[in-house]
Amino acid sequence: FAKNTERGTVQFYQENLPVQMKGILEIESGLRRAVEHNEFVLHYQPQINTKSGSIYGLEALIRWNSPKRGLIPPNVFIPVAEETGLIIPIGEWVIKEVAQMIQKLKKLGIILPISINLSIRQFYQRNLVERIKTILSTHDVDPKMIILEITESMATDAATALVILKDLKTLGVKIAIDDFGTGYSSLNYLKQFPIDYLKIDQSFISDILDDQDDRDITDSIILLGHRLNLDLVAEGVETKAHVELLKIMHCDILQGYYFSKPLPEDALIHFLNTYQP
Ligand code: C2E
Ligand code: MG
Ligand code: MG
Ligand code: MG
Repeated sequence: FAKNTERGTVQFYQENLPVQMKGILEIESGLRRAVEHNEFVLHYQPQINTKSGSIYGLEALIRWNSPKRGLIPPNVFIPVAEETGLIIPIGEWVIKEVAQMIQKLKKLGIILPISINLSIRQFYQRNLVERIKTILSTHDVDPKMIILEITESMATDAATALVILKDLKTLGVKIAIDDFGTGYSSLNYLKQFPIDYLKIDQSFISDILDDQDDRDITDSIILLGHRLNLDLVAEGVETKAHVELLKIMHCDILQGYYFSKPLPEDALIHFLNTYQP
């Protein structure tokens, strides 16, 4: 849990939480209602092309806009959604919402790929590839504009995972390994799996300035990724010094509060229209 907790984000939300979460059961019944009443919202965090400084793409990050408690972060409810199976309709909503967003941005003359986080249950759902294909063609979205983020821990059944990933590649979407370096994984997967991006977990990035080990690990992940023809994304880029160091390390794409927090739609469009490299 420690490695995956976005400390800053959790603190940020706690201020906005009038009542402390009262346990899984309460979240679960609330979540069912949330699915029925469509209480979710996506925020989008810009990703920056390190070399040019231009915007590379966006990551869609879900929030639960609860009428009772305000904005609830995904780390609170995604595990419950996963446990109860509600992640399937929620995940489907996310993909549709992103498809619509890509079209909306296109009408504004903005063409950017959007990354979508998949959870393990969603990844192994029987007809994932078909469902994604249907949603994308319904909304007339080029699969190349979608990057699906999975984690190392999703390779629990490596043989099945490989089949799913190959089908997704055939469909034409891109694949990223999220939180890279924090899960149990075999380097063998990197060789076998048809992936496009590695996202270096923010727990490594946050200390690269002070911690020689984290700096060496980050540097090595970038070298390894490039050898395997992958693009490297750094998560949790919070300072100018992070940017400078990651530039020297040839990290391809940067994402973090230094550039922007995840933004609701209106703020995002304002950001995209006014951003200067
Ligand atoms: P993630 O995919 O690794 O997303 C990155 C998290 O780091 C986001 O937290 C983001 O707000 C936060 N972050 C970005 N830049 C910085 C920074 O510079 N400093 C710090 N301290 N944090 C930063 P968020 O939005 O709370 O999401 C947490 C996790 O919830 C995500 O981690 C992802 O695993 C999961 N998640 C989010 N949206 C979805 C979704 O639609 N479906 C599923 N299955 N999971 C989701
Ligand atoms: Mg994370
Ligand atoms: Mg992610
Ligand atoms: Mg991550």
